[in-house]
Amino acid sequence: MTAGMHMETRADLLVYNIGQLCTMQGPDRPRRGAEMDDVGLLRHAAMAVAGGKIVAVGPEKDVQALADQDTRTVDAGGRVVTPGLWDPHTHLCYAGSREEEFAWRLAGRGYLEILASGGGILSTVRATRAASDEMLVSLLHKRFSQALASGTTGIEVKSGYGLSTVDELRMLRVIRRAAGEHPIRVVATFLGAHAVPPEFQGRANDYVQLVIDEMIPAVAGAHLAEFCDVFCEEGVFDLDQSRQILTHARAAGLGLKVHADEIAAMGGAELAAELGATSADHLIMVSPEGMAALARAGVVAVLLPGTSLTLGSRFAPARELIAAGVPVALATDGNPGTSPTESLQAVVPLAARTLGLSPEQVLTAATVNAAWAAGRGEVGGVLAAGRPADFVVWDAADYRYLSYHYGSNLAREVYIRGRLVAREGVMLIG
Ligand SMILES: [Zn+2]
Repeated sequence: MTAGMHMETRADLLVYNIGQLCTMQGPDRPRRGAEMDDVGLLRHAAMAVAGGKIVAVGPEKDVQALADQDTRTVDAGGRVVTPGLWDPHTHLCYAGSREEEFAWRLAGRGYLEILASGGGILSTVRATRAASDEMLVSLLHKRFSQALASGTTGIEVKSGYGLSTVDELRMLRVIRRAAGEHPIRVVATFLGAHAVPPEFQGRANDYVQLVIDEMIPAVAGAHLAEFCDVFCEEGVFDLDQSRQILTHARAAGLGLKVHADEIAAMGGAELAAELGATSADHLIMVSPEGMAALARAGVVAVLLPGTSLTLGSRFAPARELIAAGVPVALATDGNPGTSPTESLQAVVPLAARTLGLSPEQVLTAATVNAAWAAGRGEVGGVLAAGRPADFVVWDAADYRYLSYHYGSNLAREVYIRGRLVAREGVMLIG
């Protein structure tokens, strides 16, 4: 008999003939070190669901006992089932597109050079400010559908293309509206400190003061975001400015995230650890001291190899982070400049190739650790009795296929709360 199974519970959904069920069961916290090698694999398994929640996972024979003639059944056909992917770092609320800038980059121009000449983030700020709420909701809704159809059942979305109190609040309301009209699970993050807006050119400290005095109280007061993030980087917000913003955000009740040590080792990881951030993201240039600090504080390292690939830059030291005891998660960084994608599934084979992670580490990083990085570790990323039935039936017979194969959508069926929401790349509800 499987732990957590109650014989009186009748399943309303039974998924059977699962060749490999990656439950990701383990300690109830972000996984680190050798824990990242364990995907909680069950073979020839089944999963029973009632009222949108899992009531049992285990050997097919045991779980099947919970079904009766009214139970809806899904034959997984010997395929792989995993928890729905969680994407804990995206900037998908934006208007416009930057393929022209990408062509400049291919021709050799640097990221900070493009930013300094009014391109980069600021071109998306102009387009986003100019777009109507309806347009932004509709664009974000479409991107949610693309994410969901590729196996992402939960997603974090940041503001940060408004850069004024009015436009930052507007972006967060757009995120809330799009989330309310879509089955995907959404976590909103306030990123007013994404760039210094043109109106504050040369007056970064004044902008930091605006973020602290006006934006953070407004965001926290209206409960428009769960997290506050800062782009702590050379030429953007320095360590002291980042500390000020994050300290005020924490006092206002927001969780913390940091864009840390992406282009230069500035101590962003150490700052994230010092302030008890939920995650430190990018970390391409993180120092050994920064890694040790993250490990001690239990901060999740969110790695974004799609961004390195687009920028032609170095990749984060994923193996070193894991060896140092830091829990590692993966995200798309979905944004129009440096990672134009909605698919965390696409990042999985990329991470195996560019970060040197094993298929087990990659899957842990894209499910359970990613859910923790998004502040949803207690509900997402694990298939176990009592958890929401958010899962994906993959067009694969071995979970390692997800790290191996690339370029086509392998998410055959996507479920949220036991409800089929996408099949073979097409959204069914929303
Ligand atoms: Zn980012």
